[in-house]
Amino acid sequence: MMSGRPMVDAVVVGGGPAGLTAAIALAGAGVPTALVAGRPRPTDNRTTMLLMGSVTALTTLGVWQRCQTNAAPLRVMRIVDDTGSLMRAPEVRFEADEIGLNAFGYNIENRYLIAAMLALACEIAALEVIAEDATKVTVGADAVTVTLESGETVAGRLAVGADGRRSACRAAAGIETERWNYPQAALTVTLHHSRPHHDISTEFHRPSGPLTLVPLPGQRSSLVLVSDPDESAGLKALPDAELAGAIEQRAHSILGKIEVEPERGMFPLAVERARSLGGHRVALVGEAAHVIPPIGAQGLNLGLRDAATVGELVAAAHRQGHDPGADELTARYVQMRRTDVTSRTLAVDLLNRSLLSEFLPLQGARGLGLTLLQHIGPLRRAAMREGVAPAAAQPRLMRGEAL
Ligand SMILES: Cc1cc2nc3c(=O)[nH]c(=O)nc-3n(C[C@H](O)[C@H](O)[C@H](O)COP(=O)(O)OP(=O)(O)OC[C@H]3O[C@@H](n4cnc5c(N)ncnc54)[C@H](O)[C@@H]3O)c2cc1C
Repeated sequence: MMSGRPMVDAVVVGGGPAGLTAAIALAGAGVPTALVAGRPRPTDNRTTMLLMGSVTALTTLGVWQRCQTNAAPLRVMRIVDDTGSLMRAPEVRFEADEIGLNAFGYNIENRYLIAAMLALACEIAALEVIAEDATKVTVGADAVTVTLESGETVAGRLAVGADGRRSACRAAAGIETERWNYPQAALTVTLHHSRPHHDISTEFHRPSGPLTLVPLPGQRSSLVLVSDPDESAGLKALPDAELAGAIEQRAHSILGKIEVEPERGMFPLAVERARSLGGHRVALVGEAAHVIPPIGAQGLNLGLRDAATVGELVAAAHRQGHDPGADELTARYVQMRRTDVTSRTLAVDLLNRSLLSEFLPLQGARGLGLTLLQHIGPLRRAAMREGVAPAAAQPRLMRGEAL
């Protein structure tokens, strides 16, 4: 026998960083919200490079104050062409102070970020955090009903689908995806190194995918090594000392002697895009809406802009006494997020394909693009500003305005 809880304005499904941010934004603005966070699972060893807009949003929500000591600033980004291509590009160096910023953003281990979000979520009066998985999502005319493992149900006028790649909310709303896989997998390892990183991230563009080193506090960095799946699996299986040597060699020893922490992650690379970011009474955020390869630190930054946009629209509807799940609201959400999501997905896809391709004109276009960025100051500064704060999408939270 199923029993129901009181109807809320918004039910967020998925307790990853995008869902937690949406739930905190909504409930923090006084919108009665339930977060179906799923059963507690260990967080993997990924880190997130949060761009300044995301840091501003998380500060405005009160998350950042709880985890900033675990984050390292990123003041310089280097792109090094390590493809060996005939059309090899010069090294490109982006410096935050060139656009008047102290840092492009901060890199933080996901476990600290998620713990800070969850702790805050549990303190917000308008938010009920439910540590159960959703077993069923049913979209009705006036509400979305989420069935929990216990058999209980929770209904909301709007469902925010933050339930990741295999989103049940997306399926319940009848939203299809387009997907393409790359012949690549990303290996994630956390490193200790003998030389300081000087708050610089370095992305080596290799023929099988980029190798990226991103600073963490102290003499530590996170490594994301994108390569063909066999190479990634082979590296993942190596004993610590051999893996450290293999990374040191691929990173041209720029961080000196390397030691690896025991945990390793492996992520097959794909692009997956929902054909729409919303449907009747459903708004999709984060990887439920878009999955992109970990190149240029865009994925979760996009997801946080989704969450901030949902928060902004629903908080306004709530203040005005409007239905937060009305079709006009979800249509507005879809329209507000379209350009940002499409442009970032295409840019990351194109960059990744240009690395994999043996087609000289495409390699040449990438080389030319990087050469222009290195030599033309105004172009480089425009690219940096757009990278940090996209002109098409600046939700209020990203501007430091409370909802
Ligand atoms: C190697 C790597 C490096 C990356 N680096 C960066 C970076 O530097 N910067 C950046 O911006 N992005 C980065 N990304 C992307 C970023 O990690 C993702 O965008 C982000 O984790 C997605 O968060 P999410 O909350 O949308 O999804 P998830 O983290 O997948 O969360 C979904 C949640 O929903 C829960 N869930 C699923 N189904 C149900 C259900 N039925 N009931 C209840 N809960 C459910 C899951 O348990 C999970 O907790 C990287 C990705 C990879 C692979």
